[in-house]
Amino acid sequence: GFVEFNKFFTQIIDRFEMSKSQNVEFIRLLPEKSYFVDIDTDKLTQVIDNIISNALKYSPDGGYIRFGFTVHDNMLRVMISDDGMGIPKENVARIFDRFYRVDRARARSMGGTGLGLAIAREMIEAHGGKIWAESEEGQGTTIFFTLPYELDEAGDWE
Ligand code: ATP
Ligand code: MG
Repeated sequence: GFVEFNKFFTQIIDRFEMSKSQNVEFIRLLPEKSYFVDIDTDKLTQVIDNIISNALKYSPDGGYIRFGFTVHDNMLRVMISDDGMGIPKENVARIFDRFYRVDRARARSMGGTGLGLAIAREMIEAHGGKIWAESEEGQGTTIFFTLPYELDEAGDWE
C-alpha cells in the first residue's frame, strides 16, 4: 500500500537514533514535501535497517550518518552515508552479491553473514528501483536506492 515516504523513513531513523549505543550523530536532510511510495513496508524496513546497521557498524567514534532523499528522473533517490572506513574501489559493486564481505578479518570482527545487501538489492528491484554504492577508502560510504513515487496517495487517478 501507499505510505508517505518522509514519515516512513523518519520512523526508522528515530528507532535507530533512540537505541544506538555508538557515539555517532545522525543528520537528516529530508524534504517536507509529500511523496507517496507503494511499498511492502516490512520489506522496505528490512532494507533500510540493514543499510543503517552497516553504516553504524563501520562508523568511527564521533562520526556522522547522513540521511536524505531527492527526486531524480521521476524516482525518489534515497541516500544514507557514513564517514567510516569505506570500501576499496574494486570491491564496491560486489557488496550486493550474496555472502560477499570486503575482507575476512573485518568480517570476523564485525559479525553478520554478508546477505543483508543482497536481500536489499532483491527487494529494491522487486519494487522497481535500483540500489548502488559510492565509496572512498578511508572517507566513507554512501548507499543510494531509488523507488517510484506518486504525489497523491491514491496513485494514478485519471
Ligand atoms: P549481514 O547484513 O548479513 O548481517 P553484512 O553486514 O556483512 O552481514 P551486507 O550488509 O550484505 O553484509 O554487506 C556486505 C559487506 O559490504 C559487508 O560485510 C562490508 O564488508 C561491506 N559494507 C557494507 N556496508 C558498508 C559500509 N557502510 N561501510 C563499509 N563497508 C560496508
Ligand atoms: Mg549488513
